[in-house]
This record gives sequence, structure tokens and C-alpha cells, in this order.
Amino acid sequence: SINRGKVVIIGTSNVGSAVLNKIADFQLASEIALIDLDMNRARGEALDTSHAMSSPYSTNIKIHTGTYEDCRDAAFIVITAGPSILPGEKPDRLKLASTNTKIMRSIFSEIVKYTKEAMVIMITNPLDVATYVVSTEFDYPREKILGTGTMLETYRFRYLLAEHYDMDPKNIHGYVLGEHGNDAFVAWSTVNCAGLGIDHLDEYFHFKERLNRHDIEQGLIQTAYDVINLKGFTNTGIAMVACRFIKAILYNEHTILPCAAVMNGEYGMKDVALSIPRMIAQDGIVRSLEVRLADDEMEKLSRAQKSVRAALDGAGVK
Ligand code: NAD
Repeated sequence: SINRGKVVIIGTSNVGSAVLNKIADFQLASEIALIDLDMNRARGEALDTSHAMSSPYSTNIKIHTGTYEDCRDAAFIVITAGPSILPGEKPDRLKLASTNTKIMRSIFSEIVKYTKEAMVIMITNPLDVATYVVSTEFDYPREKILGTGTMLETYRFRYLLAEHYDMDPKNIHGYVLGEHGNDAFVAWSTVNCAGLGIDHLDEYFHFKERLNRHDIEQGLIQTAYDVINLKGFTNTGIAMVACRFIKAILYNEHTILPCAAVMNGEYGMKDVALSIPRMIAQDGIVRSLEVRLADDEMEKLSRAQKSVRAALDGAGVK
């Protein structure tokens, strides 16, 4: 039977270790198993985090290295294995498609030997390609495979817009949708700020210059590459995103968040995974919302579909 408190993290480098530590700090698990090709790294991370368990701030969580057998009773499997784009490289996650498609296939063929019940949280890039491959090539319930997708861009968007108006980003509602990557776009028709409406913010806050939507949209994509070039990788934001989804599932929240899954006819699309708003509860993705998009937003969604499909084709994925 499933151990509701058990998480398996696959890939324990920059991203996997950040996810481990946030899950531990937020007390979202009672047991965490770590798997990496480099088992020394996994062992080191398990020890380092375990050493914090005697602090009064910590809950005594059992953290250990594991094998794929640990998936048998896991409630969550978080996949962060495989390389990232590196500082100075061409800023496009889609170029990782061939390499990480192979890694996803090898990892998932192990997972399905042990479980079809765990919620799988996908983080490896290109996120939409990785999510599509594991969802379509393996006999695993699709509603239990959740790609973190544009939730991270949505957080980045809210941060940038809030910076612009000097306010708490949690006042900003609205979604970035499409590809996790260069074809993410702001669905401006969903954006609202403290009930004021995006069109009235400049006026309300007495801004002389009109908000430049294009700059915000470019900024939220570029800022990921800035982090990579400045510190070498991104890990903190995505770890928070992973925890947000885990909490939504653990607490059966029925909350609506943008995330990636294989499109099932929404907007007439089927041959890719992309992010749209989806309702998240204990069984995973319980509903996908075809929110009304403006014509230019629909065009951007189509562009995202084409680029993800091209990356899948390039990696030989049907
Ligand atoms: P990294 O290159 O530092 O680490 C990758 C780890 O995966 C290594 O420890 C490696 O040993 C391990 N690994 C490789 N193949 C494996 C396999 N078959 N089984 C088990 N482990 C394996 O990368 P990172 O900086 O930690 O990033 C990890 C992934 O997360 C990258 O694909 C990156 O692009 C992605 N990422 C996604 C988001 C997002 O928003 N979805 C954000 C940040 C990073």
C-alpha cells in the first residue's frame, strides 16, 4: 500500500537537492529516498540534510539513498535527472530533447516495474518533451503525471509585474501558459491585480509610462538565463514550485495552477504536452481548463505547440 508520506527524488544535483531541502523544511514528507546515477552525490545529500534533523526547526524525516524499489510504496516521485543548459550556452531548453528523452525512458521503464500509483512530478527539461514522452510511451495513468511547466514562469511573471508596481506579487493573479521555455506567453486576458484589472494599473498607481507588456514577457523568459549565467543553474524557484504541487495533492486542494500534461483536445491540440490551467487534487490532475484566450494568445499557444512538436520530432518521439 501507498505510504502517503514517502517521496522518491530521482536526480540529486542542483535541482534535486533543492527539492529535497524544501520538502524537508516544509514538512511535506516523513520519508525521502534519493536516487542518482552518481550515488555518492545522493548519499552526500542524504547525510547533509539528515544532519539538520536534530534541530528544533526540523521534523525528524527519514532521508536515505534508495533504489527503484522505493517507488513501490511512494506517494510522490520527483524527476530532476538529466543535464540542464549551462552558462553561456544557446538559451533554449529544447536542445536537451534527445539526451533527456533517453534518460526519461530509462528512468520510467524502472518506475513502472514497481508502481502506477505514485504522483509523478516532472522537472527535467525540456519539460514539455519529457512530460509527453513518459505520458505517452508508458502505461501509466496520465492524470498522475504532472509537469511543473509554466508555474515557474507564472511566479517569475508575478514577481516582475509586482516589482514594476512595487507591490506584493501575491496580489497578482493570472497565468503564463504554453511551453516551459522560450514559447511561454502571458495570457494577459487572465491577469488581474487586487481586483483593479491590468488595464487600470498605470492609472491607479499614477504611472506616466504605460506598462510595456512585451518587456515583461521577454523579461520573464530572459530572467531564467540570467540566473543560469549568474549562479550557474536555477534551483530555488523550481523547488518551491515542486512543493506547491506536492502540497496541493497532499491536501486535496482542488486548486487551479498552470502545469504541463499531454493535451487531450483542449484548443484542438493532442500531439504535445503544454501548460494550461489545471485543477490539482489528491488524484492528480482532475480537470483541465480551456480558459478563453484572446486571438493573439491563441497564436502564441499554437507557436508553442509547433516548437514542442518540432523538438519531439527531432528526438524521434511519435
Ligand atoms: P545537473 O546536470 O546538475 O544534474 C543532473 C543529475 O541527474 C546528475 O546528478 C546526474 O548524475 C543525474 N542523472 C543523469 N542521468 C540519470 C539517470 N539516468 N538516473 C538517475 N540520475 C541521473 O542538472 P540540474 O541543474 O540539477 O538540473 C536538473 C534538470 O532540471 C535539468 O534538466 C534542468 O534543465 C531541469 N530544470 C527544470 C526546471 C523547470 O522549471 N522545469 C528548472 C530548473 C532546472
